[in-house]
Amino acid sequence: MKPTEQKEIILKGIPASSGICAGSAYIVDKEGVKVVKRYAVSDQDIKKEINRFKTAVKKVQNNLKEIIEDNLQSADIIETHIALLNDKEFYNKVAEIIEKKHVNAEWALKKVTIDLTAKFKSIEASYLKDRAEDITQISDKIMKSLTGIKTVNIKKIDKRVILVARDLSPAEVIQIQLEFIKGFITDKGGKTSHTGIVARNLQIPAVLGLKNAAEIINNEDIIIIDGNKGEVIVRPSAGTLAAYEEKKREYENIKAAASRKAKFPARTKDGLIIPVLGNIELSEEVVSVIDHGGSGIGLFRTEFEYISGSGFPTEARLFEKYKGIIELMSPEPVTIRTLDINGDKAFKFASSKEANPALGLRAVRYCLAKPDIFITQLRAILRASAFGNVKIMFPMIADKSEIIQAKELLYQTALSLEKENIDFKKDIEVGIMIEVPAAVITADALAEEADFFSIGTNDLIQYVFAADRSNSEVSHLFEPLHPAILRMIKHTCDVAEYKGINVAICGEMASDPLNLPILLGLGVKEFSMNPQSIPHIKEILRNISVEEAKNFTNEILRYTDITEINKAAQKKYEELNGKTYPAS
Ligand code: PEP
Ligand code: MG
Repeated sequence: MKPTEQKEIILKGIPASSGICAGSAYIVDKEGVKVVKRYAVSDQDIKKEINRFKTAVKKVQNNLKEIIEDNLQSADIIETHIALLNDKEFYNKVAEIIEKKHVNAEWALKKVTIDLTAKFKSIEASYLKDRAEDITQISDKIMKSLTGIKTVNIKKIDKRVILVARDLSPAEVIQIQLEFIKGFITDKGGKTSHTGIVARNLQIPAVLGLKNAAEIINNEDIIIIDGNKGEVIVRPSAGTLAAYEEKKREYENIKAAASRKAKFPARTKDGLIIPVLGNIELSEEVVSVIDHGGSGIGLFRTEFEYISGSGFPTEARLFEKYKGIIELMSPEPVTIRTLDINGDKAFKFASSKEANPALGLRAVRYCLAKPDIFITQLRAILRASAFGNVKIMFPMIADKSEIIQAKELLYQTALSLEKENIDFKKDIEVGIMIEVPAAVITADALAEEADFFSIGTNDLIQYVFAADRSNSEVSHLFEPLHPAILRMIKHTCDVAEYKGINVAICGEMASDPLNLPILLGLGVKEFSMNPQSIPHIKEILRNISVEEAKNFTNEILRYTDITEINKAAQKKYEELNGKTYPAS
């Protein structure tokens, strides 16, 4: 690979899938359909125009169905796109605009897409912002079908390249042939976008949300993707290219070494086996947890079925989803977190108009206020529990009475299943997430009602610092090693120990190797994280003893300055790993 003479440019985006690669750019889609003209459609042609739209939708639908048949791995995500194609707010609205305004299908489609995406983007919830991307992506496909624009068939690319696109839909990413495509970058998309999830499942480096990469990069330009940092280097100098080749080698060595041992337990130097589990959102991610050596699922976020569809999921649908995951993971545990809706994960339909959604009718509060919806989920979980090793976890508990009420509904649900002679796991463990400061302070009272604790640091940090987790303006306050957070974790672990219940951690903090010795030293007994981080974290745990972690943590707990703590944690990382932090 030869570097070019032009000056190198560094673009910063969102690190969607880890790994480093360098190669020749292959522009897939630079602009999409940019100019959409409006023209009048006469009375007698309205029906024809609506049919033209319907045919285009059908074409896209058939194409997506074919992709699912070819590749079952990410079927759920593509099914979401198929469901969107028929979504009333979307499909009917386009037809309605064509009919009422006497306009062409392209213009009506553009109008509905703009209106709908603006609606989602206006809600301060990253989940919904990313769902706006789903709409843009399927609208784009219909638009191309309407206008007859040919798209590059990703499946047919047979050169070793890096894809560069304005946007790539999950269906397109799934068609990537790994022997040819080294990685991909897009201008749109975010960390929780479906495209990012599919990339992580494929384990291919990807940086999304670059804004103008497709404009800056030309076909066959040499580019480097650093999926760990979310950087893309365009037309790198010879020096940069060489440095990155070295960095890539080092990263892959670390990854390979960790992966080789991924299936072995994380046994500390003093012989304690620490369970390391995976966090998932979709059934497709279970395989990734198993492949990365996770000994179960410590957090199954169940919001997807509620966020992706155009209505509440049925008990039958939830049961099938849960059963599939539980059977796949059996006999290892699957901790199903009950619906944590609203806050940063709002419904697409029926979204609430709260001034402060993160402080509003969210998670268990919502479920207790809407028992019918809650009971449907509880029935599905209990029925599925007959097929493996299930635990139930309630999110956002702030007061003991919430656990009591939630458990009462669970008990009533179990009774009714018993009456119907439906099998379920009778001794199911019921735990809670510790993610609200009030829960930390009253952990002793909560432990009376809970079989286990799982610390959700993403929300705990948000609520402790009064800093919205999806607001980048206050992201500097997200310091997981801040004394306020460490002391809260310590208190939770001490109480759990005293009360004899297990304490896990499932927030993002658990996946950063920097934090590991401290979390272990604070008394966390179990770790759950994104599947890709499992091998590395297990390796770190193997390099330390609990005693050493405790001594180090005692030293850390004396600091009041976050800079000092971070510095000490980095020094410890170097000591344990023989290299500077971060590893990549
Ligand atoms: C958390 O809050 O730390 C957590 C794990 O849950 P979520 O990110 O889904 O709110
Ligand atoms: Mg949370």
